[in-house]
Amino acid sequence: MATILMEKITDSTLIPPGPDAVGGVQCLRDPLLNKGTAFTRDERAHRGIEGLLPPRVESLQEQAARVLKNVRGTTSPLEKYRYLSALQTENETLFYRVVLDHLEEMLPIIYTPTVGQACVEWSRIYERPRGLYISAQHRGRVAELLGHWPRSRVGIIVVTDGGRILGLGDLGANGMGIPIGKLALYTACAGVPPEFCLPVTIDVGTDNEPLRSDPFYLGERQQRMTGEAYDALLEEFVAATQAVFPGVIVQFEDFNNACAFRLLRRYRNRLCCFDDDVQGTGAMGLAGLYSAGRITGGGLAAQRILFVGAGEACLGIGGTVIAAMQREGLSEGEAKQRCLFVDSNGLVIASRGDLAEHKRSFAQDRAPLPDLLAAVEDFKPTALIGACGKGGVFTQSVLGAMARLNERPILFALSNPTSKAECTAEQAYAWTNGRAVFASGSPFDPVTLAGRAHAPGQGNNCYVFPGVGLGLLVSGARRVTDEMFLAAARALADQVTEADLEQGRIFPVAARMREVAAAVAAAVGAVACAQGHATNPRPQDLRAEATRVMYVPGYA
Ligand code: NAD
Repeated sequence: MATILMEKITDSTLIPPGPDAVGGVQCLRDPLLNKGTAFTRDERAHRGIEGLLPPRVESLQEQAARVLKNVRGTTSPLEKYRYLSALQTENETLFYRVVLDHLEEMLPIIYTPTVGQACVEWSRIYERPRGLYISAQHRGRVAELLGHWPRSRVGIIVVTDGGRILGLGDLGANGMGIPIGKLALYTACAGVPPEFCLPVTIDVGTDNEPLRSDPFYLGERQQRMTGEAYDALLEEFVAATQAVFPGVIVQFEDFNNACAFRLLRRYRNRLCCFDDDVQGTGAMGLAGLYSAGRITGGGLAAQRILFVGAGEACLGIGGTVIAAMQREGLSEGEAKQRCLFVDSNGLVIASRGDLAEHKRSFAQDRAPLPDLLAAVEDFKPTALIGACGKGGVFTQSVLGAMARLNERPILFALSNPTSKAECTAEQAYAWTNGRAVFASGSPFDPVTLAGRAHAPGQGNNCYVFPGVGLGLLVSGARRVTDEMFLAAARALADQVTEADLEQGRIFPVAARMREVAAAVAAAVGAVACAQGHATNPRPQDLRAEATRVMYVPGYA
């Protein structure tokens, strides 16, 4: 099955779909075929669209220059998002050309933080259909709905139920912006052809009462489904994905943690799927610690990490770090002692009776402590990793204590969007006298402190999932394993240069996303082959192969 995916990715790259097949106004309406003003005079005559476009024939570069001018001429990030969304619906080649050529500038618009604002406002700004909405009313017919998708060459599905959108909580059907944004990154950052990508929202209702009573809300106006009804809908969906698009990769995204851990457990051994918030974030966090260690001088096994949050992101990083520490020679018990978690009810410790199942194996035997500052003073962490969705929890006193305890304190403020970051870049550097090794989930501008410039890196799973997906496609993997994420973390960390580190950056610059994705894909593909999960023959050079099959936006 996966061999077919490989064939798909290969021939789609070598033989891009040409507009020859489609004539008339239809070729102006299909975003994969549309060239807009770049249709030549011959093509216009041949396809019977003369007069439907202004006379001048433009190159892709000229079109891209206009798009860029319009984006830059708009001050509101949300308006930029809307403009680019409209372009994506109209002409994917032009959209991806602009995004790929200006990744650093475009990622904060099509992804975090602006995508968060877009989700909040989704019902108000909605203009055009994109992605597939499946809800309880479609029970028994989910496969039929998947069959409505106009493309048959689907290789990756990103699915959410809108349960925990970034750090913004339950946004119901408004969460559709997330699978759309993630898949745009698959194409921009890893070269997965756009026709391979299917964004899905499973609308199970929302417990967000203001949203339900918003007259513009476009989702089902009911409380969130739970229990058997929820599980049955998800089960039907998962089975339908494999029936309609055999071997398709399913990426679970922004489910609330009660569902995320359960779904991952249930499906990880049944199909090629992963949870990006748990596993992708896990690899990103581990990569960040590897790179931070190059600055602080401490190896991974020497770190003591205090996690602020004990949900998908922090437990995902914690689980990955504990596995990596064991590879460095620590016992499981020793590794777990080096990772302490705090959640909204305090320290995650064994004596607590309220711990959800997914937290229990991380609980330490310790006495409770009153607050985060007390936890820092007591545990003496070398690294503080926040992914709790609560802006500002890294207070001046907390960061001051980290700076007192460590020459170079490692601080990751991973919550998204920017308003939910545990601290800003400026606070991280100012409150540690410029000594923090800092990364944040959403991008911050460089900070100059006492004449020294600090360029914070973006600690975001967008450095991981595109390459993971590409590696799964190239190898034709049937399953996704923890070892693949460990390898992805190492590959990502290896992409961080000395020049990055000198500027305080522990993740590569966004402009190098495709190189990063190729390296991550090769690492994932190698594990797939070694573990016997690959169905495609191993190419001689996995990285070269991953690069070769990448979609490059250009007109046929
Ligand atoms: P989650 O709901 O699964 O977990 C949130 C955790 O934070 C829970 O354990 C909760 O008890 C805890 N918490 C809440 N308030 C707290 C407080 N004041 N102090 C300590 N703990 C507190 O959510 P998640 O999936 O783990 O995501 C959390 C955040 O991380 C979101 O903002 C999300 O956008 C972000 N995130 C970032 C990345 C990235 O790549 N940078 C990846 C995944 C998630």
